[in-house]
Amino acid sequence: MRVVGLTGGIGSGKTAVSDHFERLGITVVDADLASRQVVEPGQPALAAIAEHFGQDILQADGTLDRAELRARIFADESERHWLEALLHPRIGEALRAGLAAATSPYAILVSPLLFEAGQATLVDRVLLVDAPEALQLERTMARDQNSEAQVQAIIKAQASRAERQARADDILVNDGTLADLLAKVEALHERYLALAAGEAAPA
Ligand code: ATP
Repeated sequence: MRVVGLTGGIGSGKTAVSDHFERLGITVVDADLASRQVVEPGQPALAAIAEHFGQDILQADGTLDRAELRARIFADESERHWLEALLHPRIGEALRAGLAAATSPYAILVSPLLFEAGQATLVDRVLLVDAPEALQLERTMARDQNSEAQVQAIIKAQASRAERQARADDILVNDGTLADLLAKVEALHERYLALAAGEAAPA
């Protein structure tokens, strides 16, 4: 086992978990970060987006106007497909390069869209961070100052908990304190080290 895919819904605790794996010395490759990097000024994907949608998809400083792009692809599904066909292969390439450069016994690929963006092919095992919806709502609202309706809409648009649970090899239930969560991460880390070393993992 070399790569663990870490996923979960909004506010489930992915960042808290991946930060802790990083503290334990594990290379973490972040799909959110990669998806922002591939559309930075100077990247071919940004030029392709500007050519397709027009120059007003860019802000005055030449960076992508994300709000405008979101509005365009929300209004037209074929535009969303066009954008995904452009970006997913480039994001996949960046993730592959990051994982290939990992120096730890195993690596973590953290992605909210592990299944939706075809990134599950990059991982050997799937770890789901799972929290009851009420806690996802409460924690995201506290973090982002979003309204309950905004967070509910995002949760509805994402894969359901049941869909994610069905595809996970391991599930970290994040319904206690942060300290509880980090202890569970440490236990999993031991198990993953054993798996990476090719030993049988305790059940
Ligand atoms: P997103 O998909 O929105 O990026 P995420 O899955 O990365 O979210 P985090 O940012 O790790 O989620 O967690 C959401 C918020 O909840 C953060 O402010 C985090 O500190 C807090 N949090 C996570 N787990 C717990 C916990 N067990 N107890 C209390 N707060 C928690």
